[in-house]
Amino acid sequence: HAKIAGRNTLRIFEPGMQVSLNARVSMEESLVMAIESNQLELHYQPQISDVNSVIGAEALVRWNDPKSGAIPPSVFIPIAEETGLIIPLGQWVLEAACAQIARWENDPVMSHLVIAVNVSVRQFHQDDFVEQVKLTLARTGARADKLKLELTESILISNAADLQDKMNTLKALGVSFALDDFGTGYSALAYLKLLPLDQLKIDRSFVRDILIDPNDYAIAKMVVALAESMGLSVIAEGVETEEQRHVLAGIGCHSYQGYLFSGPIPEDVFKKMMGQLGKISV
Ligand code: C2E
Ligand code: MG
Ligand code: MG
Ligand code: MG
Repeated sequence: HAKIAGRNTLRIFEPGMQVSLNARVSMEESLVMAIESNQLELHYQPQISDVNSVIGAEALVRWNDPKSGAIPPSVFIPIAEETGLIIPLGQWVLEAACAQIARWENDPVMSHLVIAVNVSVRQFHQDDFVEQVKLTLARTGARADKLKLELTESILISNAADLQDKMNTLKALGVSFALDDFGTGYSALAYLKLLPLDQLKIDRSFVRDILIDPNDYAIAKMVVALAESMGLSVIAEGVETEEQRHVLAGIGCHSYQGYLFSGPIPEDVFKKMMGQLGKISV
């Protein structure tokens, strides 16, 4: 299956592709190895405020398989979810992100950054999830108020008591919460106010056509209004053009993440980009 042509690794897994059963089984085995042997890496995508200040970053996992090359998260995260590997993988990501927070804490250019970590529903509902977060913070020396956990909307239809309980405990430690891909799934709107959320993330599917599709515009506007009325911050993902940013600012969204500013990048590139002032120019 996997081929290496000379020094050029072919990319055989593409986002959204159907992966055969054989490929899935072998990918599962490779992923176990990858978690154990440091083939995973975190990249960081800057989150930007209106004045072009970098206010934080989303940590996104990258997998470089020695045989297959870079495998996109859209291919291996669903397999990790199904096989349960999302638990060790998620723990690896949490550990790596907290270690990064602790390293940046001593750097005046980086120390203000809040790092957002994606947490799968299955990972969150593990009995020891809160304990794992506590232990990881303690082990790495990361400040809890620099850690933000991104939960997807599907968490809203899972065990409500467990959800509220865990979120409140983590919130009391100083950890913050964003609701990812907001608007794409099942939203129990009445239930939102019972959760100690800090931020809604407007999914990039609404941002993409915000200039041409009145429905997407209306949904984005509704999410901003909802966030505002609940005292939450809001950030738009997938911002690729200045025009999109302009329209978002017009409806009251003043934080952005997207290729207009930067894609996800390795830590050293991120640090270079921050330069002296922590500003990036568009
Ligand atoms: P997400 O959490 O919604 O992350 C945002 C995705 O959008 C990232 O894809 C990012 O590279 C991409 N993106 C950012 N800006 C733009 C843009 O301007 N245009 C476009 N077209 N795309 C943009 P990525 O890194 O491939 O990750 C895909 C998904 O995989 C993530 O969606 C998240 O759900 C999941 N994922 C990634 N890392 C982790 C992780 O460590 N743990 C878990 N549980 N899931 C993860
Ligand atoms: Mg996310
Ligand atoms: Mg998202
Ligand atoms: Mg999304």
